[in-house]
Amino acid sequence: MRYISTRGGMPPRTFREILLEGLASDGGLALPESYPRYTAADLAKLRRLNYRDLAFDILSRYMDDIPPADLKRLIDTTYTAANFGSADITPLKTLEPGLHLLQLSNGPTLAFKDVALQLLGNLFEYVLAGNKGELNILGATSGDTGSAAEYAMRGKRGIRVFMLSPHGKMSRFQTAQMYSLADPNIFNIAVKGVFDECQDIVKQVSNDDAFKRRYRIGTVNSINWARVAAQIVYYFKGYFAATQNDSEQVSFAVPSGNFGNILAGHIARMMGLPIRRLILATNENNVLDEFFRSGHYRPRAASEVHQTSSPSMDISRASNFERFMFDAVDRDSAKLRALWQAVDRGEAFDIGETALAALEQRYAFVSGSSAHAQRVATIQDIYRRFGVMIDTHTADGVKVALEHRERDVPLICLETAQPVKFAAVIAQALGREPDCPAHCRGLEQLPQRVTVMAADAAVIMDFIAQRCEKK
Ligand SMILES: *Cc1c(COP(=O)(O)O)cnc(C)c1O
Repeated sequence: MRYISTRGGMPPRTFREILLEGLASDGGLALPESYPRYTAADLAKLRRLNYRDLAFDILSRYMDDIPPADLKRLIDTTYTAANFGSADITPLKTLEPGLHLLQLSNGPTLAFKDVALQLLGNLFEYVLAGNKGELNILGATSGDTGSAAEYAMRGKRGIRVFMLSPHGKMSRFQTAQMYSLADPNIFNIAVKGVFDECQDIVKQVSNDDAFKRRYRIGTVNSINWARVAAQIVYYFKGYFAATQNDSEQVSFAVPSGNFGNILAGHIARMMGLPIRRLILATNENNVLDEFFRSGHYRPRAASEVHQTSSPSMDISRASNFERFMFDAVDRDSAKLRALWQAVDRGEAFDIGETALAALEQRYAFVSGSSAHAQRVATIQDIYRRFGVMIDTHTADGVKVALEHRERDVPLICLETAQPVKFAAVIAQALGREPDCPAHCRGLEQLPQRVTVMAADAAVIMDFIAQRCEKK
């Protein structure tokens, strides 16, 4: 399998060559030259596999320059019942016939990002040990990525993590989860600004080739290809759990921010998984919903980003969306570059109604958005009808999912976080506190470690350089 860039300016690379990279050398994003396809007979075989074997079957096609026995071992040590709460890893919970929750948030930090990042930590350590290399991970988080990355990389040999988070804008639980980590290879930096400013600093550093090379800077943001690949697996897992045979179609509803999760669904569909619809849900930050309803993609300014009660979806533009649009323009890099020249300048583009209709035909996306009151009402509704507590992000997904529900098509809503991560809203909605899994009790009482800094790339680069030079 060889990887190319959406912008067309990178010579084809192997998986290991792109694993540690964020943006491709030409500023685009890496994608496989083509997606492997499963036939109906293949699907029948996959249906019988457990999570680990399913992951191996899918991922060995994308990560084909890792010896199979090594990849198998990395997958087997990642996806354990001890790490993810059950042997199913991503169990399907049926609320009523035809309506399901795919539980993706039973990993160490209680968000779906663990599914990909726990594997990434093991992949990074393996590849670095082979090269005798070192890596300094620079990331930006609005909450869930940061903790998931830190729990994936803590104590890993050859790796440091520098994680930027918007100062004072994460939930108490998220803040405690990240800032209480005492591992010496973890550095928390609270940036005086919003998440997008954190993300822009990461981009600026990534564009500084000299600095990047000198300090061996890598990223674990959702633009990392291996994360997307790891997320493909649970679409298959959820599909098999919700159906009896491979002629059935299902729809997935995905609470979306940076478009990483739903991109994996798109790829699963391109690989031959019988997905009828991919239902994209946003919160008040509806840049993606607007695109799928109008064909108009208008990245917002940082000052336009709403702070919401589903904060992991508070984005101004969706960094993985470029990968989807690359497919949508039939992988024509020149067309893609023209669109993203506008995006990179903070401008909008419009593909027009005809192109949008064609896009919907081919890729089966529908969308909707949700706001605070609807999120709260959905949390109440699901608790009242089914006795199940869902978090605010999952609630956005369920709200939009129910608007697009079709008779006779099983609907799988992705559960992206545990309610305890957003306890204040749950308490407001239900009049009671969400349950806290045993390994997270007392977290908020632990001492915290963080450096508060201005939203200034130069200052932050200086901080990183100092930590890397002193051994
Ligand atoms: C990251 C996150 C999302 C958004 O996922 P994307 O891959 O960025 O679209 C949704 N819900 C939760 C809880 C998250 O942590």
